[in-house]
Amino acid sequence: MKILVVNCGSSSLKFQLIDAVSEEVIAKGLCERIGIDGSQIVYTPAGGEKTKTQAPMPSHVEAIQLVLDALTDPETGVIRDLDEIGAVGHRIVHGGEKFAKATIITAEVMEAIKDCNELAPLHNPANLIGITACQKLMPGTPMIAVFDTAFHQSMPEEAYLYGIPYEYYEKYKIRRYGFHGTSHAFVSREAADFLGKKYEDMKIIVCHLGNGASVSAVEQGHSIDTSMGLTPLEGLIMGTRSGDIDPSIMEFIAHKEGKDVNDIMNILNKKSGVLGLSGGFSSDFRDLEDAYMEGQEASVRTLKAFAYRVVKYIGAYVAAMNGVDAICFTAGLGENSSLIRNLICERLGYLGIEIDRKQNEKRGEDMIISTKDSDVDVLVIPTNEELAIARETYRLIK
Ligand code: AMP
Repeated sequence: MKILVVNCGSSSLKFQLIDAVSEEVIAKGLCERIGIDGSQIVYTPAGGEKTKTQAPMPSHVEAIQLVLDALTDPETGVIRDLDEIGAVGHRIVHGGEKFAKATIITAEVMEAIKDCNELAPLHNPANLIGITACQKLMPGTPMIAVFDTAFHQSMPEEAYLYGIPYEYYEKYKIRRYGFHGTSHAFVSREAADFLGKKYEDMKIIVCHLGNGASVSAVEQGHSIDTSMGLTPLEGLIMGTRSGDIDPSIMEFIAHKEGKDVNDIMNILNKKSGVLGLSGGFSSDFRDLEDAYMEGQEASVRTLKAFAYRVVKYIGAYVAAMNGVDAICFTAGLGENSSLIRNLICERLGYLGIEIDRKQNEKRGEDMIISTKDSDVDVLVIPTNEELAIARETYRLIK
């Protein structure tokens, strides 16, 4: 059976067609600039050439139609008929407290996702538009929702409550939810499998370090804490997001610079993180690393601060789990940057961690970067959120 995985953003749509049994990617691509001039579809069939085609996409419906046309194209397509698609797995950012696992999409589920729109105003409405568009063009094909927040629903109350009046949790469900759950679940399980250990017996810390970044504590197969909160703004210093700050900073800047709350939120989400800390130099870690190697001061302070925050979260999660068996690095930076992994791991000597410098230079595969003598296994596990969504989708409709 073939599963179509769809990840809708406000103006983009990423897709992969995956064989549920062999888990091979049959085709993948991306629709860009949906609802904006100059929209295009990028399409790559397995073993074939990548093509870029400009086409008008006033909405996600046209984008999905173009995806389905590309998949069934007589020359470059990979299926003859849409009937070959057994189900569609949709990445949904926020499931609030309603969804602790993936679910088959019904009218009630759509309503429940809509109820979470306020918690993820940039993402959930786009996710819903994607579902509606697929339902319209593929009536009868089961649709599955896989939530970014679901894996972290196992967090205990003490980890998810904020120290603010409890009535705000009761009235508005203001609490910590956590994100990147599909990745944290996938990577932690892969790590246990790779080590040949029982997932349910392990204490694992996953560092998902990409443009968005989060750390999670996974104990006996359950997330018990994670660094992102009500929204993905909390926690680590990210590409453009501030991560943890003293909330009073918001009022301080607002007064000093004559800004309102929307301006401040824009600064914290789009102009902060490594971009802001490097004085606007770059949000891309590759640029920062190059400059770090040349000793450029702004990049040195930025990467050191980034790594230090990760080190602090690792320490916190060792405490939360009363120990750790494995620490995993994943996502764009975690998988590729030996420099960042070094900056983090060199401060973990107190855990008896020893890194194999040569092994740490490799990239792109599941691997252990700690030495045989290290008390804790340190791994690099490439994440694969699309495959995780396809697996969940297949599990639900099998
Ligand atoms: P992601 O959000 O997971 O796609 O990760 C994107 C981030 O990973 C970007 O900031 C990239 O600069 C970073 N990244 C990707 N490849 C490398 C690399 N080879 N070295 C350092 N950073 C990288």
